[in-house]
Amino acid sequence: MSGDPPSPRLELAVGDITSEQVDAIVNAANETLLGGGGVDGAIHRAAGPDLLAHCRTLGGCPTGQAKVTPGFGLAARWVIHTVGPIWHGGDQGEPELLASCYQQSLARADEVGARSVAFPAISTGVYGYPMAPATQIAVNTVRSTPTHVDLVRFACFNDEALSAYRTALAD
Ligand code: ADP
Repeated sequence: MSGDPPSPRLELAVGDITSEQVDAIVNAANETLLGGGGVDGAIHRAAGPDLLAHCRTLGGCPTGQAKVTPGFGLAARWVIHTVGPIWHGGDQGEPELLASCYQQSLARADEVGARSVAFPAISTGVYGYPMAPATQIAVNTVRSTPTHVDLVRFACFNDEALSAYRTALAD
């Protein structure tokens, strides 16, 4: 037996991550942390302008890393902002960087004591990461990362994401 905590329970949730009732939601941000489209835009709209004001003080975030802020107007107490890799075909370190996003996000969650975390499918929107391998990395990395988070919920924004996560969870 190792001293590692048990791995979190994994769930799928259909719909908008901004309405998730969890301790922390993860934002698929860009390196500026100053807002963008997709899930980033939705989170900033739902959290309100205090989130952007706070993000301006953070000095951005490198790809593969994560930074935590309050959730402001969100139900979630925290937002963990992580920057996924832009897909360039898969041989530019994309899988390792994407795995790092999940590891670093769980590390930030542990630092603030968040026990339930919802993730979007990082990099699978405008950053172009194909859904099947991205969700496989999401599931495998969360399963293999030691954390005190006990619930991880994957937000499935469309049917493609839902079916890809189902496949990944079954493997
Ligand atoms: P990235 O730049 O990392 O690709 P995007 O926001 O463009 O980030 O997309 C990441 C994933 O988040 C995509 O699968 C997209 O369909 C999904 N998404 C977009 N809006 C939301 C939302 N409000 N809640 C959950 N997932 C969302």
